[in-house]
Amino acid sequence: MDCPLINSCPFFNDKLKDMPSMSNIYKRNYCKKDYIRCARYLVSTTIGKENVPLDIFPNHEGKAKEIIKNFKKQFLLILIKIIVSNNKQY
Ligand code: SF4
Repeated sequence: MDCPLINSCPFFNDKLKDMPSMSNIYKRNYCKKDYIRCARYLVSTTIGKENVPLDIFPNHEGKAKEIIKNFKKQFLLILIKIIVSNNKQY
């Protein structure tokens, strides 16, 4: 089954500056088949497509998990700062 992001994905549509030499194999194995495992899909559907780096490819699952972890950490820090700031006002 095709990835639901296939029409707008810069990787699938060869819009990235440095496409890997194995891009056609990745397209076949991820974009046209097992997109749930794709690093770009994972980041896009978890924290938003605006947070998908240009240099991440479908097989970079570890990198995707790291990006998501760091994003959540930053989000929590901001949330804590807001809560602390609001508590000081009372
Ligand atoms: S599987 Fe990944 S690389 Fe392929 S179209 Fe979907 S998001 Fe893009």
